[in-house]
Parts: sequence; C-alpha cells; structure tokens
Amino acid sequence: MIKYSDIVGESMVDGTGIRVTAFLQGCPRSCEGCHNPTLQPLEGGMEIEEKDFAMLLLNKITPLHKGITFSGGEPFIQGEALYKVLRYIKKENPHLDIWVYTGFTFEEIQELPLLKFVDVLVDGPFIIEKKDLALPFRGSSNQRIIDVGPSLKEGKVVEAYEECFASPR
Ligand code: SF4
Repeated sequence: MIKYSDIVGESMVDGTGIRVTAFLQGCPRSCEGCHNPTLQPLEGGMEIEEKDFAMLLLNKITPLHKGITFSGGEPFIQGEALYKVLRYIKKENPHLDIWVYTGFTFEEIQELPLLKFVDVLVDGPFIIEKKDLALPFRGSSNQRIIDVGPSLKEGKVVEAYEECFASPR
C-alpha cells in the first residue's frame, strides 16, 4: 500500500514538459517554510494498492505528457511501495520520464534499488535561508537537479543542466 494526498493531471512546474504529479503523504522533516505542510502528517492521506496507484497515474497520461513526478511529503519514506509503483509504470511505459523530489541527498539514498527507475532526482531539504524563487523546479539553492542514470554509473552526482529545461518536451 502507498499513501498519497493528491494527483495533478497536468503540471508544468514539477519538472520538464507536461507531467502528472503525485503528492505522497508524510514527511518527518518539518522544514521551516515547507511548501506543502499539509503533507507532513504521516497519518493523513489516502491508502491504495501500488498497482492500482500506478494504473491511476498511467490513465492520466496523454500523448502530450512527458512523464510523472513524485513529490510530497517525502516519497522515500515509502520507498518499498514506491519501488513497486515505479516498477509497474516502467514496465507498462518505459519511455515515461520519472522525476522524484526528496529531502534526502543523493549520497544518502544512492544504494536504494528504486533509484534505477528514476530519471531525475531533485534532492535535499528546503532551506529557507537558501530560498531562491528564480531557480527552476526547486525552492532553495542547496537542492540539486540530478541526472540519475549517469550519477549511478559514475558513483557521484551528475547534475542536469538548466539549458536542458528550455524545451517544454
Ligand atoms: S522535505 Fe519537503 S515536504 Fe518535507 S518538510 Fe521539508 S519542504 Fe516540506
């Protein structure tokens, strides 16, 4: 089972292109200035079977969509469930671009098997002293937009460059 709070069918602010965004419930961090404080309680949200959740998201995909983003909350506190969701999604549609937002750093979670299904990871907690509204797809300058495949291959962070974000698809 996985717990989520909301699904946005057409988002252009949670990664490149038009995306389905899933907001998972629960985050233990309590960052000052959190963009989604209602998603912090671990006991909130709705529970659903992983395969049903994957189907729910896949059914919102149109030819105009580039991918699916998982935000929160903290997706990685439901890592096992998210692994099953992503495995199913990638099996059904391997070309979908998967972004995941997390308060963990890449270095803290790079051994987790679910990362192999993630294309882009936006990592690190929101730090209000480093808040910068001009940054694309993240709230504070400590957060990195990471190209996960090359990062796993090289064993160190490879950031996705902002020029890559110019095209909507
Ligand atoms: S990690 Fe994200 S969701 Fe969690 S408290 Fe911080 S800003 Fe909010």
